[in-house]
Amino acid sequence: MANILDGKAIAEKVRAEVRADVAGFTSAHGRAPGLTVVLVGEDPASVVYTRNKERSAKECGIAGTLIRLPAETPEAEVLALVERLNRDDAVDGILVQLPLPKQVREAEVLRAIDPDKDVDGFHALNAGRLATGHPALVPCTPLGCMRLIAESGVELAGARAVVVGRSNIVGKPIAQLLLAKHATVTIAHSRTRDLPAVCREADVLVAAVGRANLVRGDWIKPGAVVIDVGINRGADGKLVGDVAFAEAAERAGHLTPVPGGVGPMTIACLLANTVTAARAREAAKRRA
Ligand code: NDP
Repeated sequence: MANILDGKAIAEKVRAEVRADVAGFTSAHGRAPGLTVVLVGEDPASVVYTRNKERSAKECGIAGTLIRLPAETPEAEVLALVERLNRDDAVDGILVQLPLPKQVREAEVLRAIDPDKDVDGFHALNAGRLATGHPALVPCTPLGCMRLIAESGVELAGARAVVVGRSNIVGKPIAQLLLAKHATVTIAHSRTRDLPAVCREADVLVAAVGRANLVRGDWIKPGAVVIDVGINRGADGKLVGDVAFAEAAERAGHLTPVPGGVGPMTIACLLANTVTAARAREAAKRRA
């Protein structure tokens, strides 16, 4: 039976590390790291996510602020707010919650965020830094996946890794992070031929697709580390991942559950990114 990687417990460890780092930063610089979360509109899921982000930041000693704008806010006003936050020295991290209302173009807003405050890691400059091996703010879910993989104890150098899914915010950055750790990485997607055979090669298999139970037990190499990023709602209304959990648990060496695997890691990694951004900004000020 697979070892179940407990995302809740590991996220709690990350938060404890962040609390210690925040305390160190605050005493060194006479201010707490600052995170501002922007929510445009009333999307119920986004309201919950953004409140959780603000509350979690505060619990770690980060100066967390939630700014809410009405759903009908014009794009120019959102961009003006981002510009103001870019200039505000107390703000180290800016997160604009997606999705945005239709009159506000996501690409324009993400491009406007100062890449050094881009704690979601979605700015093209951060994607480029990651791809070229430069220090970058890395998207939170991929960072969380890497931490879970690290907790499994698997040696990534030389390992075969397969990432199913190639989105800019999940699949591609996970693949880059695995490559940076010297894994031999295959990125699979909806046009991949014989996906089961590709997955069976994997010492580390990451599923980031959004299809309930796509990955079957017999797609998994015995002993593999399996990270299930997918969040899907089953016919009974319960959350299920992209991996058929019971079957996978018979074959995998390590496996993340859904819920309680990758999910809890994401906010913890956002908090870690805020400290990373704050430290990098202070270091840049010292150099200037
Ligand atoms: P996208 O829809 O942007 O990307 C899905 C990817 O899966 C695409 O690359 C697509 O291929 C590929 N794909 C679709 N169908 C198949 C198939 N049958 N076989 C192989 N590949 C397939 O999703 P995201 O990357 O944003 O998210 C992926 C999942 O992760 C979702 O369930 C989402 O809810 C979840 N998620 C979870 C988070 C967490 O905190 N735990 C955070 C973010 C996302 P193609 O490019 O060819 O279309």
